[in-house]
Amino acid sequence: MTQNTILPSLGVAVGTSSHIPIHTIDSSCHTQRGFDSRGCFGTNCHDACCQYGADVDLASYALIKQHASSIGEIVHSSFDAWFESSPVALSSDFLGGGSVRSRVGNDGYCVFHIPDGKGCALYQLAFSGIDKEIVPSICRLYPLSWDDGVLRAATHLESTCNCVADPGTLNSDEFGPRRSILETQIEDVKAIFQFDKLYTIVEPRRKEKVVGVV
Ligand code: SF4
Ligand code: SF4
Repeated sequence: MTQNTILPSLGVAVGTSSHIPIHTIDSSCHTQRGFDSRGCFGTNCHDACCQYGADVDLASYALIKQHASSIGEIVHSSFDAWFESSPVALSSDFLGGGSVRSRVGNDGYCVFHIPDGKGCALYQLAFSGIDKEIVPSICRLYPLSWDDGVLRAATHLESTCNCVADPGTLNSDEFGPRRSILETQIEDVKAIFQFDKLYTIVEPRRKEKVVGVV
């Protein structure tokens, strides 16, 4: 992702949250399989996507700082342990205008992963009513990805992810109708991105209009 400016510390003024500009929806967003009805919590994926830490939007960073006490009670650590010391990277690819990297803990997961459990402390707070923007946009949208205004499906998917069809369910509706990753993530797509034109999202296989994004 484009990184325009590097600041010397995390003590930056966090910009107001806005939307991330998108000018192109790549065809992979329509062809990549989306989540089936099992979602993340019904899938035995061991939360593989949380092994690396995340590029945390500055808008999320501000909310994490605001709710650090509640998060600390879940993850059993404190704010000082949660972010890399590397500088903030400013970029329009992130809500709030930049990002900072979350650390990976001794258990091999992002520091916000629920210890000895499944899921993310930030999601847990969002489910309890705190602004969902506390969850980094890259985590809300995985395996969608974006760079310099182009939205696409990530090229590398964790092999255990719900979005990777296992042979037994590839052509089955056992877990609900097959939908594209753009369809299953559409609410977060609309919340996070700003599009420079009207897109009509069509599910190619079913040849029907699914939803419009402005
Ligand atoms: S912030 Fe939450 S969802 Fe994102 S990588 Fe960390 S634990 Fe996983
Ligand atoms: S996005 Fe995929 S790998 Fe990550 S928690 Fe959900 S199902 Fe598991």
